[in-house]
Amino acid sequence: MTHPPVSWSGSRRMLRRLRDIMAGSGSAQDQLDRIVTLIARDMVAEVCSVYVRRAGEVLELFATQGLRRDAVHHTRLQVGEGLVGDIAAHARPLALADARSHPLFAFRPETGEQDFSSLMGVPIIRSGRVLGVLVVQNRTQRQYADEEIETLQTVAMVLAELVAAGELVERAELRPDSDHVLLPQRLDGTPLSPGLGAGTAFLHRPRVTIETIVAEDPAAELSRLSDAVAAMQGQLEQLMQRSELAVAGEPREILETYLMFAQDRGWRQRIEEAIRSGLTAEAAVQKVQNDTRARMAPMADAFMRERLLDLDDLTTRLIQHLYGDPPTPPPVGKDIIVIARAMGPAELLNYDRDSLRAVVLEEGAATSHVAIIAGILALPMVGRATGILSRVETGDPILVDADSGFVYVRPGEDVHAHFTHSMRRHGKLQQRYADARDLPVTTRDGVAISLNLNAGMPGDVQHLQTTNADGIGLYRTEVPFMVRGSHPDVATQTNLYSRVLAEAGDKPVVFRTLDIGGDKLLPLFGEVAEDNPAMGWRAIRVALDRPALLRGQFRALLAANAGREMSVLFPMIAEVSEFAAARRLLDMEVARAADRGATLPTAICVGVMLEVPALVWQLSALLPQVDFVTVGTNDLIQFLFASDRANPRLEGRYDPLAPAVLAVLAQIVGACDAARVPVTLCGEMAGRTLEAMALVGVGFRSLSMVPASIGPVKAMIRSISATGLADYLSELKESPAHSLRHQLRGFALDHGADL
Ligand code: PEP
Ligand code: MG
Repeated sequence: MTHPPVSWSGSRRMLRRLRDIMAGSGSAQDQLDRIVTLIARDMVAEVCSVYVRRAGEVLELFATQGLRRDAVHHTRLQVGEGLVGDIAAHARPLALADARSHPLFAFRPETGEQDFSSLMGVPIIRSGRVLGVLVVQNRTQRQYADEEIETLQTVAMVLAELVAAGELVERAELRPDSDHVLLPQRLDGTPLSPGLGAGTAFLHRPRVTIETIVAEDPAAELSRLSDAVAAMQGQLEQLMQRSELAVAGEPREILETYLMFAQDRGWRQRIEEAIRSGLTAEAAVQKVQNDTRARMAPMADAFMRERLLDLDDLTTRLIQHLYGDPPTPPPVGKDIIVIARAMGPAELLNYDRDSLRAVVLEEGAATSHVAIIAGILALPMVGRATGILSRVETGDPILVDADSGFVYVRPGEDVHAHFTHSMRRHGKLQQRYADARDLPVTTRDGVAISLNLNAGMPGDVQHLQTTNADGIGLYRTEVPFMVRGSHPDVATQTNLYSRVLAEAGDKPVVFRTLDIGGDKLLPLFGEVAEDNPAMGWRAIRVALDRPALLRGQFRALLAANAGREMSVLFPMIAEVSEFAAARRLLDMEVARAADRGATLPTAICVGVMLEVPALVWQLSALLPQVDFVTVGTNDLIQFLFASDRANPRLEGRYDPLAPAVLAVLAQIVGACDAARVPVTLCGEMAGRTLEAMALVGVGFRSLSMVPASIGPVKAMIRSISATGLADYLSELKESPAHSLRHQLRGFALDHGADL
């Protein structure tokens, strides 16, 4: 038997009937019973069932046409259990011609479903939460068409209203974590932008509730959509004119990405199709977003998940415009801690910076746009604070320690007192560092140490001024590639690097060539699944396999550095021959520029990043070929200990202050000094005071770190004696200890080091 797909006009008719049932008489349960009959008939299915989510993460069969009636209110599945549970757990549709042979199929004999082969189910979603599952089944092995899944999703949107109305199950049951208590709590998240903040919670509720789902007149809805898109574009353009965005380059580019999304024809077409199937414009926008979320959310790739947040942000804006109610800036003049599941950068920019003290997100990653913006705005931000939304109400007092990633909800008096003290100390320290801005960075015994910045956004370069660092020791050129999500051409790169150099003035900037790899590759090259992306096709390996990419970057760097000294650094070099190959490509670009009569840099310094242990045993061959060495301990340590730097389970297992690490670093410094090749270190450990002290002890005279570390590291350096430290460390070199942290802290205490 063949099943003709449900057409748009059929879908519209079904929606109208659904609406009539819901507007008519009878209890919610009666309505639901009539609805499943209607859907089964219109979708030519033998079975239509609705499962509703109840407290305790349970899905209960609430209505059915075709399964055994006495199973209603008896059959229950856990979220995640069986096919229905899987649809709820992942908030994504499933369509299977032979459901019974699927490994997740959970057989429930009381329902009589053994008679049915095919199954199509969709989540019932409202305000981003799965409230239930709508399922149809057929006896034959029916191949459901994409249009049929679409129709069922549309129907599920209407059903969501019935479930959310609170008659079928109490509204409280539908809330996540409904058993939460109003006790003080500490939540552990991930620091995304450092600092401390105290204030009252403001629940950022980007999702707006859609009141009318079914439309009478698709043409009128299409025209409403078109007006709202135009109004939204106008508002985004206006936002870009704002003065603080004009100076900070990156937010502007992010808003441009938004505009690009807003102008995306595919996105617009999908919304228009949903309108033609019978939805109001706002319901259509929401439906397309639900579909996109279901399709993209399971992707592990952080980049794609961030784009999803951008799309969420855009959806909310568009719906607000459809209601003629453009996003209003939240309250001003208060100490606000914004709490959100996730947030798009433009949403954050809607807040008045002076009122904000911190932001806490349930989701969020360090590479997210919103975290980048928080950094630029010097706004403390904690991400991955799981459960925060269900534990906090607007107005609750909150303390955020974004240096450590702790969030204190409704803190007790003692925590409050302690935190206030920390904030005061923090403020005083910042002032002390600012006062020390122009003091020399020299140890007590007169050894000068060069302190430099790690940077990755044009906005970071302004910290050369505030910190008085000597230069940019590491400019990660991949960050803008990731933010933009596209491959910037040579002109765009030239422009970007020129802006960085102009802002740096006469201070040197070391540009590292692209360090993309593993999951970061996706936007440029399409998905490349790798078991070990950190050890996979990344950095110089990609660049040498795609020489045009590297040559384009060289071309831009040469143009931007015309008339000044240029420094360029190759990441993840494992063999001398890789360095030589990259250098050859650079020489070819230099020759090309010279042939064309372009102004060249006055000198070109080419350095190598030492991140792969094998290179340590090639230094005698390598050093004669390089102008400088930069040690990347983030990678070097993960490879030394075979310990994934991104795996939270391994965090703290091996210590950067392990004797083995310090011995390798001492060996590298020794070899570089002997060959008179400048060496610096730019891993995260350089920015932590105790670690930086050890690095001076093993012989480093140049370090590169995040701007916030310059003050504390400088204070430490001015308080120690390099010779005493070196002697102490050389005694400990052979120690069998797991770490020298304890001993080094003792040394620091005994010698009055300012840590
Ligand atoms: C490093 O590996 O230490 C480094 C600075 O590079 P990244 O953190 O960008 O991998
Ligand atoms: Mg690295």
